[in-house]
Amino acid sequence: MASSEVARQLQNDNCRPLSLSGHVGFDSLPDQLVNKSVNQGFCFNILCIGETGIGKSTLIDTLFNTSFDDRVSTHFQPNVRLRAQTYELQESNVRLKLTIVNTVGFGDQINKEDSYQPIVDYIDAQFEAYLQEELKIKRSLYNYHDTRIHVCLYFISPTGHSLKTLDLLTMKNLDSKVNIIPVIAKADTISKTELQKFKIKLMSELVSNGVQIYQFPTDDETISKINATMNGHLPFAVVGSMEEMKIGNKMVKARQYPWGIVQVENENHCDFVKLREMLICTNMEDLREQTHARHYELYRRCKLEEMGFRDTGPENKPVRVPLLKGYTDSKKSISHSHASVESLQETYEAKRHEFFGELQRKEEEMRQMFVQRVKEKEAILKEAERELQAKFEHLKRLHQEERMKLEEKRKLLEDDMIAFNKRKAATELLQAQAFASTPSVSLKKDKDRKKDPGFRLELLCFDVRDHEIVNVQEQSEREKLERDRISHREFQK
Ligand code: GDP
Repeated sequence: MASSEVARQLQNDNCRPLSLSGHVGFDSLPDQLVNKSVNQGFCFNILCIGETGIGKSTLIDTLFNTSFDDRVSTHFQPNVRLRAQTYELQESNVRLKLTIVNTVGFGDQINKEDSYQPIVDYIDAQFEAYLQEELKIKRSLYNYHDTRIHVCLYFISPTGHSLKTLDLLTMKNLDSKVNIIPVIAKADTISKTELQKFKIKLMSELVSNGVQIYQFPTDDETISKINATMNGHLPFAVVGSMEEMKIGNKMVKARQYPWGIVQVENENHCDFVKLREMLICTNMEDLREQTHARHYELYRRCKLEEMGFRDTGPENKPVRVPLLKGYTDSKKSISHSHASVESLQETYEAKRHEFFGELQRKEEEMRQMFVQRVKEKEAILKEAERELQAKFEHLKRLHQEERMKLEEKRKLLEDDMIAFNKRKAATELLQAQAFASTPSVSLKKDKDRKKDPGFRLELLCFDVRDHEIVNVQEQSEREKLERDRISHREFQK
């Protein structure tokens, strides 16, 4: 920017331009910035999307001239996975924390409809992690490992036909989230004329489908020319190889075929050098900046709006909150420049109130529900208790009745026993008297008769009769006799 232009702008901003009378030193600010950045180190994250075996790992190795030891993936993955690996690289005194994210199993499934979804989720997750760090009260963005994807190298098969639906769909879903640089992989497998036609076809397809790919910036005059030229070469046709061969007296990276050698770094053979120049040497910082200022900003805005944050109030006025206690009037003047901060504060307060209100409502709801449940349980328990009590009463009554019945039976039995004993005693007495009045001869006779079975039967019959048909008179006679016998015994004593 010319100095007259700077002076005009300063005047517009109500600043008075002054010329210095000597060297002050703030012209070293850019150097300070460079030193600080160099000390801090840089980070760069590359996402490689492409079918398994298309040459992603080989190209990354070739780009950074390093073997990253990425495992070879199979074609039998049930779904698309993302594998991130971070490496610390150093060139001169510049340290680079490089993360390479590879899509494992991309394009290997029969149903490829949702193949792009895990990629979208991954990119969003990195934005979310950064946003969460930003929203923390104690932030440590200075040493935060930023994992946001700065560039996506999209590998297109060198078919010579057109873009596959999967490629179109994936790029369409990613173009607002990441800087996409499309590359035609294994460009050594397609002829020069076919390649030119293929490039034109791809670009027109991308344009007609509204897919936004990354354009090298042309606003910086130092690089605008080269960037503009390079934009015309997109998509780059690349060849990757870590094999070194001697061409002339130089060792070069190349791929050897029966019919010749393809040199990776020969611009007549492929666009590998163009890609490396654009990606690493010229536009790495722009890719990082675009990621932060465009893609992350979009994510952040959508996310905050989704959370209910607004910069303007209902009548499109900037949202304000009353100044905090202790703020002086002079400080009020800076309040308008913090409209967004205040709006965040206000939204936060509103959200906080809303949240607490909701929390209280939920708590009350839960309490009511709890009370209701307890009441229901109590009623059930009471009912069960009533049933148990009724059962108990019923059993008690049955038991009482049973006891009474048994008591009656016992009494009857006792009466029977008393009667039986009495009858027994009377019979014994009668027998004794009968023996006493019978002469000895007849005793003998009786003995003989007793042996006679007929007589025994007669006796048994007598016994039975004695038990069954003793009448009351006989009974009382016996009792009288018994009483006499007892009194006679007592008199003898
Ligand atoms: P990835 O699965 O996409 O990472 O693919 P790889 O990088 O593992 O490469 C798969 C195969 O393709 C290997 O045999 C590589 O040697 C070969 N390959 C890689 N790049 C190229 C290339 O540019 N041209 C040709 N013809 N083959 C390549």
